[in-house]
Amino acid sequence: MTADTSVASDVHGSLYSDALTRLERAAALVDVHSEVLTRLREPVSITQVSIPVRMDDGGLRLFTGYRVRHDDTLGPGKGGIRYHPDVSLDEVKALALWMTFKCAAVGIPFGGAKGGVTVDPKTLSPLELERLSRGFVQRLADVIGPETDVPAPDVYTNARVMGWMMDEYSRIVRHRTPDVITGKPLSLGGSLGRDEATGRGAYYCLKQLERLRGWEPSSIRVAVQGFGNAGQHVAQLLHADGYKVVAVSDSKGGIFFPDGLEIPALIEAKNARRGLHDVYCDCSVCECADCMKHQTTPITNAELLQLEVDVLIPAAIENQITEVNADGVRANVVVEVANGPVSSQADEVLMENDVLVVPDILANAGGVVVSYFEWAQNRAGYRWTLSEVRERLRQTMDSAFASIYGRWERGATPDMRTAAYAHALERLGQAFEDQGTARFFSAHDGTGAV
Ligand code: NAD
Repeated sequence: MTADTSVASDVHGSLYSDALTRLERAAALVDVHSEVLTRLREPVSITQVSIPVRMDDGGLRLFTGYRVRHDDTLGPGKGGIRYHPDVSLDEVKALALWMTFKCAAVGIPFGGAKGGVTVDPKTLSPLELERLSRGFVQRLADVIGPETDVPAPDVYTNARVMGWMMDEYSRIVRHRTPDVITGKPLSLGGSLGRDEATGRGAYYCLKQLERLRGWEPSSIRVAVQGFGNAGQHVAQLLHADGYKVVAVSDSKGGIFFPDGLEIPALIEAKNARRGLHDVYCDCSVCECADCMKHQTTPITNAELLQLEVDVLIPAAIENQITEVNADGVRANVVVEVANGPVSSQADEVLMENDVLVVPDILANAGGVVVSYFEWAQNRAGYRWTLSEVRERLRQTMDSAFASIYGRWERGATPDMRTAAYAHALERLGQAFEDQGTARFFSAHDGTGAV
């Protein structure tokens, strides 16, 4: 089966410029010193590496990898590592900036960072993938660390990959360092609840909307684009509450059933077709459709985005809803589980059409919140129970949601995204002010006490 490339993905301007557009929109509505923006427009550091990997056939291949630390004023850099053929420096810079704003929006003590390797990991054997992951850490060892920059999983990296990376870093520094990376397997210092955290965080946002809008779950139809870690968990939780998840998709295409798909059976079928030693699940939802009791209809990713549903959850990759297809979105609510699935031009179209967008830096923050819990547990040498993790995640998400939704509802910003950026920008602005901007230094010229 070939990849479903029918989504409007040809409209790929610079993601970083797009990220800056959002920053400028929020800055116009918030009282922060211009120096705050001067600093946040440029990342703190950019590391580009080439990673030599000995392939199984004896030959050598060089892969390009990046790590960008966007800002570390609020704490060590934090952000995932992505393995994907489309990884570029521009993309990693944008993802790192979003991490700065995400951590600030939900109030956790981390800055923003991101990494990636330009590779199609599904073409590598498990041994080649392990060598690549260890090789990347060898190259990054000087710029990551528990108190400088703490990576995590992202698209096509997972707990196993994080485990290899943690082990490699520990070998380099010659002591065990579980707190250098989050999203690890439980046996290697991972946290209970980290695997489900991104989907669960988005689910908590939807539960708030359910309360605010008086939704009856069984009458709410949901479509989920991307049936990986984040997409599966949010679909599973919504299905368990009685929501009708009518469509799901992955890179090979999607399936649709108007009365609601049996999500647990679909997840079970996907996992059952994964070999014990496989790193990735290669089975598409399209191939798993035969596990359904009902006949499903195959749909493309482009069709899924335009389905007549109440809630649309893009949970795959960026730039899926652009000015080309935004007008065709018929959902009332879009919950951005993926990073950057809606372009800044599409924001305006969705706003005009009264579509409420719960922005990525809030909707998918559950992952980094529980990564913070994992890091804190590693540093304390103490394990939390699953119910402790879920409860603290719920409190963090509910509080961030209330602040951001409240700001938007009061009319202080035109959309929830700008409200989220403004909320984060105020926190960042305060930290920069506490270090001193020109406002402080020009008032204290060295002749008097400060
Ligand atoms: P994953 O690798 O587990 O799953 C990605 C899914 O997207 C897969 O089902 C894949 O087939 C699908 N996909 C890839 N390209 C696609 C395309 N062109 N069209 C449709 N589907 C496509 O990744 P994940 O961890 O679930 O991450 C998904 C998104 O959520 C990413 O944008 C990621 O940055 C974001 N996110 C993830 C986390 C996390 O903790 N996992 C945290 C925050 C944000």
